[in-house]
Amino acid sequence: MLRSPICFGLLLCALPCLGAEPMLKALIVDGQNNHNWKATTPLLKKYLEDSGLFSVDVATTPANGDLSRFKPDFAGYQVVVSNYNGAPWPKETQQAFEKYMRHGGGLVVVHAADNAFPQWKAYNEMIGVGGWGGRNEKSGPYVRLREGQFVRDTSPGGGGSHGAQHAFLVVVRDGKHPITAGLPSSWMHASDELYDRLRGPAANLTVLATAYADPKQGGSGEQEPMLMAIDYGKGRVFHTTLGHSPEAMHCVGFIVTLQRGAEWAATGEVTQSKIPGDFPTSDKVSVR
Ligand code: ZN
Repeated sequence: MLRSPICFGLLLCALPCLGAEPMLKALIVDGQNNHNWKATTPLLKKYLEDSGLFSVDVATTPANGDLSRFKPDFAGYQVVVSNYNGAPWPKETQQAFEKYMRHGGGLVVVHAADNAFPQWKAYNEMIGVGGWGGRNEKSGPYVRLREGQFVRDTSPGGGGSHGAQHAFLVVVRDGKHPITAGLPSSWMHASDELYDRLRGPAANLTVLATAYADPKQGGSGEQEPMLMAIDYGKGRVFHTTLGHSPEAMHCVGFIVTLQRGAEWAATGEVTQSKIPGDFPTSDKVSVR
């Protein structure tokens, strides 16, 4: 008599393993950005879908004016991907997002999304560090690599700058984190803006990878955080400073870290252990 329900149970369990339906729901938020979000959101959507793990919806704010009806159902998603850098969301939407994150939600912050909301305290705690929008020492420290350790530098100065776009080496600083585990220890990233001098609360923040902001390119002369993981309440945040343009997002290193970072933000784990054969090397950019 027991066999029948057991078999039924096994069948039910087997169905998702067949890969017919992505198991995780992602929501990309866009609509305002000083970057070409209309070109980059479709790429972010494609990369997440290509992982086979995500179904992806997009919530687009009005281009300007009244945002009072912008109330995405955050709780219906395992991860929210921000491609947004624009006007403040309504208070009610901010509070709903804070609650979603405190209770275990996931957030991926892409490039200029870390310029957004300089006045929104909880958002700045989520992203760890950010730039522009009047950010300065009152926003929090710089995160600096000194003798192999990341330290907080509270010295005065602006938050956020970058030099000329160029290809640069991304160096893994925490190879044990699920997002970076098994990746090459460094790789050449396709031509992009190299964000430097970001600053913010930097609490519960793990720097996963850095890049050297070469003064010859107009950079800070520091190893700048490029990929970060932040804990916020029971929620998880993956922050990639990369991805200024569609061309920068074509980098296979960007794609793979986005896919892994989104899965980690959604679930706390990364099952995408296979490194694609076209992953960039320490001396050669690779794009799709
Ligand atoms: Zn940019």
